[in-house]
Amino acid sequence: MGPATSGYGVSVDVFLRKEKTMVATQPDIDTISITRTFDGIEAAAHRVISQTGGMASFIKDAKIAVLKPNFVAGRSAETGSTTSFALLKAVAEEVHACGAEPVLCETPGTEFDREATYTILGVEKFCADNGIRIVRIDPEGGEQDWIELRPAGAKRLRRFRIPRFMQEACFINLPVLKTHVVSTMTLGMKNPMGILPRPDRRAMHTLGIAPCIVDMNRGIKPDLTIIDGSVGQDGEGPLYGDKADLQVLVAGRDSLAVDLVCCQLVGIKPRAIPHLKLALEQLGKPSWTLVGEDVGVIKQFRLPEQKSLYRFIFWLMYPLDYPYSWVAERGRHFCTTLYSTGLVGTRPQINDASCTRCGICVETCPLPNVIDLKTLQVNYKTCQRCLLCYEVCPENAISVKGYSGTRKPS
Ligand code: SF4
Ligand code: SF4
Repeated sequence: MGPATSGYGVSVDVFLRKEKTMVATQPDIDTISITRTFDGIEAAAHRVISQTGGMASFIKDAKIAVLKPNFVAGRSAETGSTTSFALLKAVAEEVHACGAEPVLCETPGTEFDREATYTILGVEKFCADNGIRIVRIDPEGGEQDWIELRPAGAKRLRRFRIPRFMQEACFINLPVLKTHVVSTMTLGMKNPMGILPRPDRRAMHTLGIAPCIVDMNRGIKPDLTIIDGSVGQDGEGPLYGDKADLQVLVAGRDSLAVDLVCCQLVGIKPRAIPHLKLALEQLGKPSWTLVGEDVGVIKQFRLPEQKSLYRFIFWLMYPLDYPYSWVAERGRHFCTTLYSTGLVGTRPQINDASCTRCGICVETCPLPNVIDLKTLQVNYKTCQRCLLCYEVCPENAISVKGYSGTRKPS
């Protein structure tokens, strides 16, 4: 993983770890590549990697490369919610060609189950077919799996943990170009949150997501970020927004620079995104050289509506999780318990009057025993809110409740 920096430009900053301090340098001016995916995502991925310097320049002498996609939940890449397998495949091929091992490390949002998410997305088979090793670290932050970082200059998130095995690894950040109902946009700077243990993610939400994203990026510097805009999502992202169909990949070393370029592509002023505004103020504006295609604004993005009551209730789940986790079974969190009641969160509901009990939704659901055809109840303890049942119902008997993703039977 690359070094932490206190600003942008020639960096001689320190990457503080419990065990050691690493000093390294990054180039003054980043090269940012933009390319369309008209000839396929894999071809486009190989192109941006080549244009930004080639995979060998990122891997250097690392034995493993950590691929960090955005698998926030079991919603396919076709919805614009998650990183496409085609991008991961191309990156893994490049890593193999450099003699290193690609390793996938990702934990979904706190309200989702990692194994169920992997099942819905088909992560196991994809990784097995493409020689990618999956590393399942303890999401609750057990001592053996994690090391602590204390990034210099951090203002809110003064310490957090990253997986121990990442110390000597090349870190390849593979986010999606999409909006986010909490952080407005989720791009390169936010994506590494998915490798932090849940207690540290909870701290980020409690202390303020925008300043904590900036602090996290003082400690985590990906060697390469490739933003997957092959589909992308605007409106009420990151899961239930509108497919954007951008057909673009954007790559570079500097996450802030990459994020600023992505904002240009979707017509959003970076200062409208709280963590980018703070990053510009605290870290300074990076410099970059554009290569590839100069595409202008591909699509004017609609940012999510900011409903303060929703944001407050969402925020409240995190401080409440501290006392909850003292008494709850390990791995249980306040939000998962709250969502499992079926009273909150995006969730499918079956309308008895329209349902013919054809069973198609049960056959389509990627998980066992979630929909009970006799009672037409959905088990919200196990439902992962992928909405595949809603999409296949021939009678339009399923509606979707919740703040984001609400859908009436069509
Ligand atoms: S697919 Fe629709 S009609 Fe068929 S059982 Fe499910 S909810 Fe009922
Ligand atoms: S019940 Fe519907 S939303 Fe829930 S996991 Fe099954 S298919 Fe997905």
